[in-house]
Amino acid sequence: MRRRIGLFAGFFLGLTLPLVAPELANAGGCPDGGEQVEHEVASGQTVSGIALKYGVSQRAIERANPKLDINKIRVGQTLKICLPGKDSGGSKSSSSSKRSSSSGRSCGGGKTITNHEVEAGDTLSGIASKYDVSVDTILSRNAKLKKDPNSLRVGQELLICADNRRSKASKTCGYRTPLHTHEVLPGEHLGEIAGRYGVRRKDLIKLNSALRSNANLLRVGQKIRVCPEIAPHEMVELEVTVQSGDTLSAIAKKYGLTTNELLGYQRGKLASANDLKVGQKLIVYKQGGMLPGYGAYDDDTGDLPHGVQMPAGKYYEVKTPSRAWGTGNTVRLIQSAISSYRRGWRSSPKVHVGDISKKGGGKLPPHRSHQHGHDVDIGYVLKGDKADEVRFVNANAKNLDLARTWSLVDAFLDTDEVKYIFMDRSIQELLYDYAKKKGISQDTLDELFQYPRRRGHGIIRHSSGHVNHFHVRFRN
Ligand SMILES: [Zn+2]
Repeated sequence: MRRRIGLFAGFFLGLTLPLVAPELANAGGCPDGGEQVEHEVASGQTVSGIALKYGVSQRAIERANPKLDINKIRVGQTLKICLPGKDSGGSKSSSSSKRSSSSGRSCGGGKTITNHEVEAGDTLSGIASKYDVSVDTILSRNAKLKKDPNSLRVGQELLICADNRRSKASKTCGYRTPLHTHEVLPGEHLGEIAGRYGVRRKDLIKLNSALRSNANLLRVGQKIRVCPEIAPHEMVELEVTVQSGDTLSAIAKKYGLTTNELLGYQRGKLASANDLKVGQKLIVYKQGGMLPGYGAYDDDTGDLPHGVQMPAGKYYEVKTPSRAWGTGNTVRLIQSAISSYRRGWRSSPKVHVGDISKKGGGKLPPHRSHQHGHDVDIGYVLKGDKADEVRFVNANAKNLDLARTWSLVDAFLDTDEVKYIFMDRSIQELLYDYAKKKGISQDTLDELFQYPRRRGHGIIRHSSGHVNHFHVRFRN
């Protein structure tokens, strides 16, 4: 299973969501298949500032706009911008305005190749400390420079294998992720915002003292700090005119929204889906490209130097003990979640604990993750003759024990140390409907579930291959 986490670098970007600026333009015209957007120059903007904003180089803007005189841009002028491709990051520039971009290409150990453009005043040791790497690490990927370290020139591009997350992560986020600022959209509630970034409401309340007194009274435009587990995307504001035959749910689906989200954006001007009229104008906030500076980050690989083997237990069965080594914390959390689940159920089939990691960690085929003792596969609780089968069995509406499975998942979530749970969309749907009927609030459903969205959202997310078990990744 693959996991991408955003790397946020340009802190200045977190301050404002460009809600109005870019309109999606026709793709094409971009090399590398990147998405092309149009930027309308606002007062006070410079080409270099715009380049930083989108995480592209100034030269890339010049290339996309051949007639442009970069010293003579005017307010209202439209610039074509080629956004970096999906798997590539953008600018990681800090306030020092140095330019660099991540290719998103992995170079092992969770690091990615970053392209650093040498600027006046740069020294080799200065660049090394900026990326938290050694000078030798830089030289090893730049043959010319290695031959002659004095050949460093302004404008030269260096390839650097660096852990972007470590060097750019915020202290506020425990150096795990960069800090992002979310601006509240009309109708948004806290669970929905937490879900957008794959974190819990509690995390947001911890980071934003203003939420402690009024977490249910958000103001449009209110700024909320978040340490995102799901990379932030640009929000693009569109005006959509209702056509004959349109339904609210079809429009919502078209823009990757839930019907509730779309209703909320109308600020009370549309009370319900039934009031939709042909010709009516709707405001849509559509998720655009990943914010510059976020790229692929590999946090699936690694090893497990001080692993603990999952012991046998009264209420659970370990499928393959040799593949059930985790960190001490992971083993403790699995045991405590299962105990807590069983306190609510006097009788239940044993919980089926699948792979965690192998002794010492590292690759554990056929998994991509399960390398550093933070992942565990857990069987769904089933009814009927397959309930006690230790082998994972596909769950469906007929055999899934909804009440017990929901309790079990909830017990894991209650540890407050779950980073995410992978669960097939079809199972999410069953549990979502069950939880909703049980009276779980929409706010909590939006916090926890990706369903019914198709984009990455919430703690419980879709990943194929999770019809017969769910996969829990614990925080560190
Ligand atoms: Zn797994």
